[in-house]
This record gives sequence, C-alpha cells and structure tokens, in this order.
Amino acid sequence: MSSVLSAEHFHSEEAAYRFVEARLWANGRPCPHCGIIDKSGPLKGKSTRIGVYKCYACRKPFTVKVGTVFESSHVKLHVWLQAMHLLCSSKKGMSTHQLHRVLGVTLQTAWFLSHRIREAMMDLHINNAGPLGGDGVFVEADETFVGGRARNRAYRNPAPKKAVVALVERHGRVRSQHVPEVNAANLRPILEAGVNKASHLRTDESGVYWKVGEQFASHKTVIHAQKEYVRGDASTNAAENFFSVLKRGIYGIYQHVSEEHLHRYLAELSYGQKLVTA
Ligand SMILES: [Zn+2]
Repeated sequence: MSSVLSAEHFHSEEAAYRFVEARLWANGRPCPHCGIIDKSGPLKGKSTRIGVYKCYACRKPFTVKVGTVFESSHVKLHVWLQAMHLLCSSKKGMSTHQLHRVLGVTLQTAWFLSHRIREAMMDLHINNAGPLGGDGVFVEADETFVGGRARNRAYRNPAPKKAVVALVERHGRVRSQHVPEVNAANLRPILEAGVNKASHLRTDESGVYWKVGEQFASHKTVIHAQKEYVRGDASTNAAENFFSVLKRGIYGIYQHVSEEHLHRYLAELSYGQKLVTA
C-alpha cells in the first residue's frame, strides 16, 4: 500500500520522535523544566526509552512530548501521528469507533486520542502570520479569566485567575493571549497589531474597547450586563465558544492553571496546526 500512511513516522516509534522533534525543535531544543535552549543531550545509560534527553543545566530528563498533547499518555507516538493524520485528513470526520477499528486500539484509547486531538486542533490557524479580518470581515474581541487552584477557592486568598484575551474571526481564525490585566492600555496594542483595520469589530460593552474601536471600519457592542447577546450583527458568541473549548481543554489537562501552563496550553493549540499542515 503506497498511501500517505506508509510513511515511516506512522510505523516506527523512533521515526515518529524524529518527525515531531524536527517540527517542534526546528529553532533549537529547549528544556521544558528550565527553558535553556540546546544545552541537553541524549540520555545515556540504563534507559532504553526513545527520545529522552537530559538537560545539562538543571539535570532533568525530558522528551519532546512534555508540554504537548502527547504528554502523560502511554499511547505510542507513531499511533498518535496516525490518529492525527486520520482525523485531519478525513473531511467528514471520523468517529471514535472507526478510529478504534482502524488503529487497533481500545475504544477508550480511541476516545482519548480523538478528544485530545480535536481540542488541540480547535483552532488550526492560531498564530498564523498577519492580522485577522479584512474588508467586510467580522472580528470579535473578548476576554475571560481562567485558572485558580480549585482546592484553594474555599480559602480567603484563592490563586488569582489569569486573564486571556481572544480575537476571533467569525468562521475563521482565532488568536488568544494572556494579559496581566484587562485594561485599554493592554488591549490596544493587541487589537492594533492583531486585527486588520478594515474589519468590523464586535465586542461587549466594556469600555476597554471604546477608544481602540474607533480605528476599525465599524465597532458595535452587545450589552452583556443587560443579558443582551445578539443584536443584528453584533455579538461575541464566536469568542465565547472559543473560550468554552479553551477552558475545557485547560481544566481537562491541568488541575491548576499557572501562567506557565496557560502559555503551554496556548502553544499546544498552535502546535496542532504545525503538525496538521506539515
Ligand atoms: Zn533544564
């Protein structure tokens, strides 16, 4: 069979690691523990595990799976790649049952794989170069708060939540990022750099968008405080949908969302794209 699936990285675990490493580490091999780049080497000795490196700075081992959708999964990397290929290449999508049969994994594993992969791919275009929107295109901007340690919520000083701002092209691309505080000064450069001025900006009534909103073809708002969610072409429902998927993904993987985890998660979403378009 000479299908795409006959490529080596779909069958050999070592080739699968090389395939993912070449894509994730194209600009150097960062240690996920301390962040130092290219100060690590293959772990020698007793371990026969594939793809394990040891950081010379912090002495900790790591693989390319750390901080990605593959982390803490016992599924072989080449099986992950097969699952990704199958899910991404089938236009009509693929059911968990089909995946289970085609990959020869348990139904539970197939469910886990499809769930994680779909989450990671939810936005295939995150981090694409160039501003979102354009002539006649609607772009929604909205912000949300994620995180805080669940078991601390009962105490007086719960871990502070992290603010995330999202720019969402209707029926299109998404970009999101963490901001230290939601205010006009922090949001203005994000909107100016991230959204084409010919776009129609749609937000909620928050004053943080008023001034910057004047730069766009139009700026309309819905008044969430009055439970108004859609008025004509004004709504931020696309952004809300993005946030609900983002939160499901974050809480599904991390109990406690630290700033580092949040950045990692956002990187994961962008990683989905890199692999799919590879
Ligand atoms: Zn390190």
